[in-house]
Amino acid sequence: MDEVTPIFGENVFNETVMKARLPKETYKQLMKTIEGGEKLDASVATVVANAMKDWAIEKGATHFTHWFQPLTGITAEKHDSFITPTSDGKVIMEFSGKELVQGEPDASSFPSGGIRATFEARGYTAWDPTSYAFIKDGTLCVPTAFCSYTGEALDKKTPLLRSMQAISKQAVRVLKLFGNEDVTSVKTTVGPEQEYFLVDKKVWEKREDLIFCGRTLFGAKAPKGQELEDHYFGMIKPRVQEFMKDLNKELWKLGILAKTEHNEVAPAQHELAPIFTTTNIACDHNQLTMEVMKKVAAKHDMVCLLHEKPFAGVNGSGKHNNWSISTNTGKNLLDPGATPQSNAQFLLFLCAVIKAVDEYQDLLRISVASAGNDHRLGANEAPPAIVSMFLGDELSEILDCLEAGKPYGSHEKEKMQIGVTVLPEFSKDTTDRNRTSPFAFTGNKFEFRMLGSSESISCANVFLNTAVAEELSQFADLLEHSANFKSDLHDLILKTIKEHKRIIFNGNGYDDSWVAEAEKRGLLNLKSTPEALQHTLDEKNIALFEKHGVYSKVELTSRNEIHYDNYSKIINIEALTMLDMAKKLYLPAGAKYAKFLADSVTVKKTLGADDTYESETLKKVSGLTAKIFKGVQSLESAVEGGAKVSDAEENALYYRKEVFSAMGTLREAVDELEGCLPSEEWPVPSYGELLYSVK
Ligand code: ADP
Ligand code: MG
Repeated sequence: MDEVTPIFGENVFNETVMKARLPKETYKQLMKTIEGGEKLDASVATVVANAMKDWAIEKGATHFTHWFQPLTGITAEKHDSFITPTSDGKVIMEFSGKELVQGEPDASSFPSGGIRATFEARGYTAWDPTSYAFIKDGTLCVPTAFCSYTGEALDKKTPLLRSMQAISKQAVRVLKLFGNEDVTSVKTTVGPEQEYFLVDKKVWEKREDLIFCGRTLFGAKAPKGQELEDHYFGMIKPRVQEFMKDLNKELWKLGILAKTEHNEVAPAQHELAPIFTTTNIACDHNQLTMEVMKKVAAKHDMVCLLHEKPFAGVNGSGKHNNWSISTNTGKNLLDPGATPQSNAQFLLFLCAVIKAVDEYQDLLRISVASAGNDHRLGANEAPPAIVSMFLGDELSEILDCLEAGKPYGSHEKEKMQIGVTVLPEFSKDTTDRNRTSPFAFTGNKFEFRMLGSSESISCANVFLNTAVAEELSQFADLLEHSANFKSDLHDLILKTIKEHKRIIFNGNGYDDSWVAEAEKRGLLNLKSTPEALQHTLDEKNIALFEKHGVYSKVELTSRNEIHYDNYSKIINIEALTMLDMAKKLYLPAGAKYAKFLADSVTVKKTLGADDTYESETLKKVSGLTAKIFKGVQSLESAVEGGAKVSDAEENALYYRKEVFSAMGTLREAVDELEGCLPSEEWPVPSYGELLYSVK
């Protein structure tokens, strides 16, 4: 037998295990909750909890935890053991239905953005039965949502579930209009491709910036970067191969469908792609994947860098969020299909996405905004900070022909007509090639490519799902009251194309001319996180989320506050780390070398020898240390200024404007100094050593 099948999902309390271990009736009830979203009975929970516990104990688990995703962006867990004391001084292993369904972590240390005053520390976690429980490091992990005592969501899962409900509700309305009476729900599906870097642990340990910030804050370019393009899809190094093998195994045990792995563009950069699944689970799995990547790398004496931009001058890392919508009857709604009827339906869903991306470009940009991702978006490697859509030539031409009432391709003389004309099959090959587009149609799904590598995929999908839900609800409102469905549908599609085609751009997103063109089209270009966040609370956005019950105004406001705050904190930590390194490492190294040079100059002068090299280098090194010193002073005063700005928004804008730019100036001087000192005098490993540390 192969190696994979027996281990796949072995640590997951999945359907097979449930079926085998739960009484028939309990299983049926639970499935109703998982698939149909029905409320779970307390008595059912008790039976499920007991079966879960027995299964977990057999697998060697001693503890359980409510596994949740607070607004820190990483997962949180508090372990409790199963033991319950008995009167005879012994213990029994217990796990009650109540413990399964609800937990009360002391939540005061998780960010709430002011929702939950610190004296009201209680928050609670609630079981999410739609994502399987699993065992990790001897602990039974129960995926849960995390809320404040007053019911506001304090996590990334709750709004995601709400947004999935919203889009399901609206999509079903639209599908009914096309006669799909059997469809009772839809689910959005996601396959997130995850990029990462691997560096050797010994080299990593010598870089304070990597340890504290996850990225290098200094570093002169290595003589060889990614210019030869010899790493992409290249041979995978044996040590990396071993890592990947182990990683896959660990992921498979957790039921994660790790599928593709390859080298990425930059040296030391790699990618892992899972097979797509329901968004909620894809999100949980992506969080787990990032965690497992770090753990497995450590086992191999390496460090997995998930930061969006660990190294300047070579590509950073992102996450491609492949997204689609499927019905409970198994049909992918972004797949054109073979009949005029299904094509018309496809076009309407396509239009909903086009309209959503255009009207909520700000939200999509915000959903991927982070201090780390600011280094990528708009640089010549990742999609630009401008949100636009790529549909491919074929589909774009079809929309053009529709709009103009012209024939298309093989349908020579006939006009393109919705509900009559059969669309050609789109070859994935022609659609998948534009790597610069932020939001690309790839045959039967959209690929949202702006996400950063370290961020949870939740927010991007919450915003996307909700925006599309809104457009579908508008379409349904209109068409449900239509006296002539076919012609109203036709008009609606044409109108949508006309009004929103400015968001469609099939050209090169890295091109400078696109920036000018996008501006002419009135598209947003939000270059940094704080600038993007200023749009979160625009009236239309609050209205959107409130209408679909995804965020209340309070929730959205608090999240934005946390987002601003997080940005400032990250820049602040980076600035402090830079100051520390500059003062304790680089300036002393420069001064020491300057002294060595000065001594040489003195000796050479007494000997009457030529000291051109020493004295010229001395001048340069002294000039640079002076520049670094000045840079340190400027950065210090910039950081001090930040402490005086208390408003979260103003503070973030201040950090971007003052602190971040002072960091750039300091870095420039240090990187130049690196080029002047002998390697053995340089206090930290160079880019060359870091990028080629894994042999
Ligand atoms: P590539 O982008 O390398 O050409 P694919 O297009 O086959 O590869 O898949 C990329 C990712 O998109 C994978 O994670 C895959 O599972 C996912 N994907 C494929 N179909 C869908 C879908 N209908 N919904 C969501 N994700 C999907
Ligand atoms: Mg892809």
